[in-house]
Amino acid sequence: MTTFHLAGFPRVGAKRELKFAQERYWRKELAEQDLLDIAKALREKNWKHQAAANADYVAVADFTLYDHILDLQVATGAIPARFGFDSSNLSLDQFFQLARGNTQQHAIEMTKWFDTNYHYLVPEFHKNTEFKANPAHYVQQLQEAQALGLQAKPTIVGPLTFLWLGKEKGKQTFNRLDLLDKLLPVYEEILTALVQAGAEWIQIDEPALTVDLPAEWVAAFKPTYERLAKLQAKLLLATYFGSVAEHADLLKSLPIDGLHLDLVRAPQQISAFADYDKVLSLGVIDGRNIWRANLNQVLDVVEPLKAKLGENLWIAPSCSLLHTPFDLEVETQLDSDLYSWLAFSLQKIQELNVIKQALTNGRDSVKTELAASQAAADARAGSTVIHRPEVAARLAALPANADQRQSPFAERIKLQQAWLKLPLLPTTNIGSFPQTSEIRHARASFKKGAISAAEYEAAMKKEIAYVVAQQEKLDLDVLVHGEAERNDMVEYFGELLDGFAFTKFGWVQSYGSRCVKPPVIFGDVVRPNPMTVSWSTYAQSLTQKPMKGMLTGPVTILQWSFVRNDIERSTVCKQIALALNDEVLDLEKAGIKIIQIDEPAIREGLPLKRADWNAYLNWACEAFRLSSFGAQDSTQIHTHMCYSEFNDILPAIAGMDADVITIETSRSDMELLTAFGDFKYPNEIGPGVYDIHSPRVPTAAEIEHLLRKALDVIPAERLWVNPDCGLKTRAWPETNAALEVMVNVTKKLRAEL
Ligand code: GLN
Ligand code: ZN
Repeated sequence: MTTFHLAGFPRVGAKRELKFAQERYWRKELAEQDLLDIAKALREKNWKHQAAANADYVAVADFTLYDHILDLQVATGAIPARFGFDSSNLSLDQFFQLARGNTQQHAIEMTKWFDTNYHYLVPEFHKNTEFKANPAHYVQQLQEAQALGLQAKPTIVGPLTFLWLGKEKGKQTFNRLDLLDKLLPVYEEILTALVQAGAEWIQIDEPALTVDLPAEWVAAFKPTYERLAKLQAKLLLATYFGSVAEHADLLKSLPIDGLHLDLVRAPQQISAFADYDKVLSLGVIDGRNIWRANLNQVLDVVEPLKAKLGENLWIAPSCSLLHTPFDLEVETQLDSDLYSWLAFSLQKIQELNVIKQALTNGRDSVKTELAASQAAADARAGSTVIHRPEVAARLAALPANADQRQSPFAERIKLQQAWLKLPLLPTTNIGSFPQTSEIRHARASFKKGAISAAEYEAAMKKEIAYVVAQQEKLDLDVLVHGEAERNDMVEYFGELLDGFAFTKFGWVQSYGSRCVKPPVIFGDVVRPNPMTVSWSTYAQSLTQKPMKGMLTGPVTILQWSFVRNDIERSTVCKQIALALNDEVLDLEKAGIKIIQIDEPAIREGLPLKRADWNAYLNWACEAFRLSSFGAQDSTQIHTHMCYSEFNDILPAIAGMDADVITIETSRSDMELLTAFGDFKYPNEIGPGVYDIHSPRVPTAAEIEHLLRKALDVIPAERLWVNPDCGLKTRAWPETNAALEVMVNVTKKLRAEL
C-alpha cells in the first residue's frame, strides 16, 4: 500500500458556485443557512471526488467561506481587536466584516500568499494580543467528512508560519515571535479538539521554511514541535513552494511523525531527506500549474524511494490544489492536443491514483493509464504547434546589445523633447478610462455573435473618440486611447498572440469570492498580426496632442498566466518580449512615438529567496528592454508599475531604462517616490498624485501637497503628473472631476517654476 493524501482542494467549486453564493448572500439575496448549505454541499462533492480517486486521507479544514488564514485568526482568537468582536461568538456577518470592512473599520489587509496569486488576510498582532481556541469550524468539517465514512486529515497552517505571515501593529514595538509562548497552548487546544473528534493525522503547514527565515525563527521550530508532538495526534509537517534542504538536520530532529516536501518546485531536495526514517510525503504532482504529468518519469523518481521507505512513503500534490482550476473535462472547446497535455484538480488526483496503483501493484497494473500519459508527453515534446524553430532562431540571433537603446537616456531625452515640446510637469494617464456597461455590453454582444465585427469596431471607436475629446477638454498633455477594446490587460494580448490558449472555466481563487482565469501559455509565442496599431492610430488621428501607445509588458503577461513548464520561464518571457517588439516597431512606424509598456507585476515575480532575486531581475529586466529593441532614440518608452516597495529593487528598476516611469505613490504619501529621489533615479518619473481605487474626488490641496512633496525630491524637469493607475474601474463623473483638479493644480505649480 502507498498512502495518498491531500492538503486542500479548490473551494470555489467547479462552476464557481461558492463565489455566486457568497455574493448573493452579501447582496442579501440568499439566507445565511442557504449559503452554509451550499458550502457544505461543495465540501461533500470535493471529498467524494477525492475518495473516488482512492485518496486515503481527504483534506479537511481547507475549506473556508473567505480565506483559510482568516479562519485561523478566528480559530486562534487572533482577530483584530479594533472590530470589537468576540472571536468565540462570531456571527457570519462579522466574519465577512473582518474580510471586507464595515462602516467603522477597514478590512483586514490582504497580501499575496507566498509567490502565488492567492491573497490571504494578514493577521494583525499587538504586543498584548491574547489567543483563544475556537476550533469548532475545523471540527465540524472533520465530522462532516467522517459522517460520509471517509478518513480525513485536517490541515492547518502552523504557528510559526502564522506568526511569520502577520504584522506587528500598535504603538508598542515588539517582535511577533514573542507571541509564540501565548499562541502554542491555543494550538494544543485546537489539535486536541481535532484528536478528540477522531483525527489520526493532522497536517501542519510551515511553508515559511522555504523563505529566508531569520535564525531566531528557525530556532523556534524545535521547541515548538517538541511541545506539539506531546499530543496524541500524528503530525505531518508540510513545506511547499521551495526547498527546505538547508533545514534538513533540523527537520529530521523534530519529533514529528512525517514530513511533506514539494518535489515539483524543488526536486533536488530529496537527496537531503532520502534517509528520513518517518513518513515522507512526496509532493509529486504540481499543485500550482495545469500540465499533465509524465507519470513514468514521476515513477522513475518515486519507485526507488518506495523500495527503501516502504509504507513510510506517501504521495500527494505538491501543495494544496487551491491554486489549480477544478475540472478539465468541461473545457470542450480546447484544441484536442492541448487538452491531452493538461490536468486540472480532478485530473491531478487521478494521476495520483495511478501513481498509487503503480507503487502498490506494479506499473503493469496501470499499463493503459501510463501509456496514455507517455503518449501525451511524447506528443507534446514533438508538437510543431508548440515548437516553432523560427522563434528559437530569432532569440539566438539577437545581437549582444539587443536589450540596449541606441543612445543613453541623456541623449535620447533631448531628441524626444525636441518633437514633444511638452510643458514642465506634463500631465498624462496610465491608460484605461471607465469601462462603462455599454462597453462591456458591446463586447459581450460581439462575443455572442449578436453584433458584427464592424459594429463592434464602430462602438469602440466611438468610445475612443469620446475619451480623446474628454482629455482635450481637460487639457491633458499626453493622451491615451482609453483601452475600451481590452477586456483585461493580459487576456487582450494573449488572445492575439500565438502560443496562448484560454479556458472557459479555468478559474482559481484570488481572494474571497474573486477568481481569476489565467491564460495558458502552451507554445512558442509569435505575434501574427498587429494588436494595437489600428486603435492607437485612430486615436492619434483625432488629436494634435501626442497619443501614447499602450502595451502590457512581457513580465506581467508571464506572471499572470499559467506558463508552460517544458522550457525556462525566462525563455518564455523573452519570446513574449520579441512579440511585443514587433508591436513597438509597428506603432513607431505608424507614428505612435510614445509607447508605454506596463509592468505592474515585476515585483511580484521576485523569487521567495533573496539569493535568487538577481538572476530573476536580470532576465526580467532584460525581457522588458528587449521589447523596445531597435526603437529610435526619439521614441519615448514609458513603463508603469502599481503600488509596491521599490527600495530594494531600485537598481533593477533604473536598469530597465524606460524614458518615463509612472508609479503608484499617493497612498504612501509620496514615500515611495522619496526612495527614487534618494537613489538619484536618473530618468523621468510620474508619481501618482491621487488614488484611483475609490470614487472619491481628491481636493486641490491634497494633490498640491503631494506634488510639492514630489518636487522636493525630483527636479521639475524630470517630473510628470498622473493618477496612480488606470481608471477602468471608475465612473465618468468622478474621473472628469479628479482629472480637472489634477490639471488645475499642475498649471498652478507650473506657473511658479
Ligand atoms: N494600462 C493599464 C490601465 O491603465 C495599467 C493597469 C495596471 O497597472 N494594473 O488599466
Ligand atoms: Zn497600475
